[in-house]
Amino acid sequence: MRFTSSTINNRNVLIPEGITKGNLESYYPINHFDLFAPLPTTLDYTPSHELLILLNGRHLLIDEIPFSIEILHDHYVNGYLQIEAGIQMISRKPTCMRCGSIDGFGFYPCARCKNNACRYCRQCIMMGRVSACSPLYHSPLTTSYHPPTTLQWNGKLSEGQQEASNLVKLTIQENKKLLVWAVCGSGKTEVLFNGLEAAILENKTICIATPRTDVVLELLPRLRKVFPNIDISGLYAGSTDPLTSFIISTTHQLVRYKNFFDVMIIDEVDAFPFEYDATLKYAVQKARKDCGALIYLTATPSKKILQQVNEQSLPHVRIPARFHRHPLPIPRYVWIGNWRKSIQKGKVPKLLIQWLKIQFDNKKPVMLFVPSIKLIEQLQYLLEAVGVSCEAVHSEDPERVEKVKNFRAAHYPLLLTTTILERGVTIENVSVGVLGAEAEIFTENALVQIAGRAGRSEKYPDGEIALFHFGKTNDMVLAVRHIKKMNIEAERRGWLK
Ligand SMILES: [Zn+2]
Ligand SMILES: [Zn+2]
Repeated sequence: MRFTSSTINNRNVLIPEGITKGNLESYYPINHFDLFAPLPTTLDYTPSHELLILLNGRHLLIDEIPFSIEILHDHYVNGYLQIEAGIQMISRKPTCMRCGSIDGFGFYPCARCKNNACRYCRQCIMMGRVSACSPLYHSPLTTSYHPPTTLQWNGKLSEGQQEASNLVKLTIQENKKLLVWAVCGSGKTEVLFNGLEAAILENKTICIATPRTDVVLELLPRLRKVFPNIDISGLYAGSTDPLTSFIISTTHQLVRYKNFFDVMIIDEVDAFPFEYDATLKYAVQKARKDCGALIYLTATPSKKILQQVNEQSLPHVRIPARFHRHPLPIPRYVWIGNWRKSIQKGKVPKLLIQWLKIQFDNKKPVMLFVPSIKLIEQLQYLLEAVGVSCEAVHSEDPERVEKVKNFRAAHYPLLLTTTILERGVTIENVSVGVLGAEAEIFTENALVQIAGRAGRSEKYPDGEIALFHFGKTNDMVLAVRHIKKMNIEAERRGWLK
């Protein structure tokens, strides 16, 4: 879009093209202007309540706001909303102000600013195009309100959960930072309940962010159940929930917020691809208030997070024990020889077949992790040829959710998967195998998460985890050491049966 600038009451003001009939020559894309200071609020102006609610704490493109340019301009001139260029030069680098990206920009002939090569951000394009001439609209937080409510939950926290829960509550009340390092199956969601109750009673804005839509959909009903009077919205690509002061969101959606959340909780902070790290950091920083609380939850903190812990810039609390007080099962190493060669020759490695038979005889469902989609396809074909019925899932599989559901319902005994199911899936009494555990994709943290699928239920707390390999790697050794260390700590603290 193009704007011209003018002075009202000694202050610089941007005026969008089309509002006044001026000389066409004097209009420029918004990024042509230096950032103007926000205008003071005019008290005798009556703003649109709907518009303020829509823009409250958000950071939106004009296409995301169903109000006319005239109404937006009036609110801007009267100090009820702020505008800035979507792409600005920060430290001499073009920077997308919505997602923080500093490279990978594209150029296109733009009808809105009449520039043949208008720069736009490729990183966040799936949420609508931010280009150099796009204004981003924002209204500073005006209100946050939750009806008075108390937590509706009668469960009992384990000792480890209780300790973490106390710290979460304190962190929220004092607006500090905290890492909750909780082993798989320790019950980390319950650890948030008391802190969230405190935040609600103080009318704080709350966000629980997670990389995956599946997790948003799983958390929503659980939290709505324990806080039945509170409006909680779920935000993910394609969601339609209205904006509330308590949201559960995918991290992607956070780019649409600015300076809004008093409490920011990030679940599975390490589950992002490395290159996404900077964008995530920017989005979290932008969406939360500078003085807000920040809590990370994970079973496997990344090296970066651990570095902050070691430098003592990030306080942390560990829950080394599962809620059922049984130790974490320890993975076994099984040398399987050159398994890739066997598969190429059309044979399933013998040791693998034997192991599968033992699990099936013991009526255990099996999740077998395989390093690549291609290998999954080959293996599925070979297994079916020898009479083993199985299903396969991977990240690009549109039927993933349905297949996992069928596996859980015991429609077939074996599920082949990539690391896509390393987290979040709980199958009672499951045995876990990793074929080619030496592959690069099976990092220490991936293996710890995979092992975390086994032994989760109170009824079957011992689980089998077999790492089939053609040469042990450091990551395998570190993963086993990681799990053993947690068990030792849980034992030492008296948190095991
Ligand atoms: Zn962007
Ligand atoms: Zn443009």
